[in-house]
Amino acid sequence: MKEVVLAKYGEMALKGLNKRTFEDMLTKNIKRRIKPLGSFICTTAQSTMYITPNDENADLSDVVDRVGKIFGIATLCRACVCEKDFGDIAEKSVEYLADTLNNARTFKVNAKRADKTFPMKSPEICMELGGILLEKFPHLTVDVKNPQVTVTVEIRDTNAYVHGENLKGAGGLPVGSSGKAMLLLSGGIDSPVAGWMMAKRGVHIEAIHYVSPPYTSDRAQLKVEQLCDKLTDYCGGIAFHCVPFTEIQEAIKDNCPEEFFTIIMRRLMMEIAQRIAAKDNCLALITGESVGQVASQTMAAIACTDAVCRIPVFRPLVGMDKTEIIEIARKIDTFETSTLPYEDCCTVFTPRHPKVRPQLSDVEKAQNSFDFEPLIQKAVKNTEMKTFNFN
Ligand code: ATP
Ligand code: MG
Repeated sequence: MKEVVLAKYGEMALKGLNKRTFEDMLTKNIKRRIKPLGSFICTTAQSTMYITPNDENADLSDVVDRVGKIFGIATLCRACVCEKDFGDIAEKSVEYLADTLNNARTFKVNAKRADKTFPMKSPEICMELGGILLEKFPHLTVDVKNPQVTVTVEIRDTNAYVHGENLKGAGGLPVGSSGKAMLLLSGGIDSPVAGWMMAKRGVHIEAIHYVSPPYTSDRAQLKVEQLCDKLTDYCGGIAFHCVPFTEIQEAIKDNCPEEFFTIIMRRLMMEIAQRIAAKDNCLALITGESVGQVASQTMAAIACTDAVCRIPVFRPLVGMDKTEIIEIARKIDTFETSTLPYEDCCTVFTPRHPKVRPQLSDVEKAQNSFDFEPLIQKAVKNTEMKTFNFN
């Protein structure tokens, strides 16, 4: 039996004239991701991506697994390809769904007739096929309200398709369709989730990470690289920028009042991030901040940080609780890595009593007591870049 994967668009289906651009991007993302699994043909019609293996014996479970993580797809399923002939549809339904139906007690048939020239109308397809399945699987009963299995028959352009349950896709928009942004990626729980959330909105992510050796270790950096690697399943390729931050942190410690250490450090992180963002055509910064989580994330502190930003800063976790963030981190498999116990540069020289409601003028005065510009330029110049790709 010939099997395909049908992947149905999410909100992309609602796009007007530029839908084609989104489709091309989605096709490219899917092709790139399943290439290592064999040879496939990807075609689009009626807001659905058809993924057809060239090898009829190809295992499609890996394909479903990978495509299920690609943004732009609302639902997906493996389906059996049939002739547009009721006899063939019935025969293949019985064979293709035998295991599923043997393990269920209730079912219903759902028919979608995109091709209006097909001689049977949808209710007729449901009735006839329902009757045949009841005959072949006598333990089943029909339950139209809450069936354990919904057998779907789709009559489309060139073929008919039969499938069982639809799986939930990743939703969102194809990565790349919204342009690029720079994610400030720490080794913590929050920032990988923030990156995933913006990738879901079609944003192609680059990552920037600040290290302060010897206060932070190689292992801490490796952990962040591992997070980057994990994110590629969803985000595609990620350019990772590693910024040497030790001199700047030492300069803050030696020249600024202790209560402003963290806020000044965050302003300098933003400054460096937006300079590297500009070089790489990133249109915004992304952080994992959430209002009130720590002293540097009060509204007053965020205002002081934002005052140095010349491009938008996206904080997709801003209104989320830690428990909600952790739920996503587990789902996207970054939680375990994020909770490995290595230090971050944010925990170096932390003030004993940080200002919870800093005034911008005080922060500016504190920061202006030292000329950070040469150190900023040096950090940007010595930033190292490497690229992460899936597989
Ligand atoms: P996370 O769990 O993402 O580390 P957090 O709650 O620990 O967040 P902070 O340490 O205050 O919060 O950092 C806030 C945000 O600043 C992070 O979400 C991240 O976007 C950015 N950030 C913090 N440390 C670094 C770093 N070493 N490199 C790059 N970005 C960082
Ligand atoms: Mg952190």
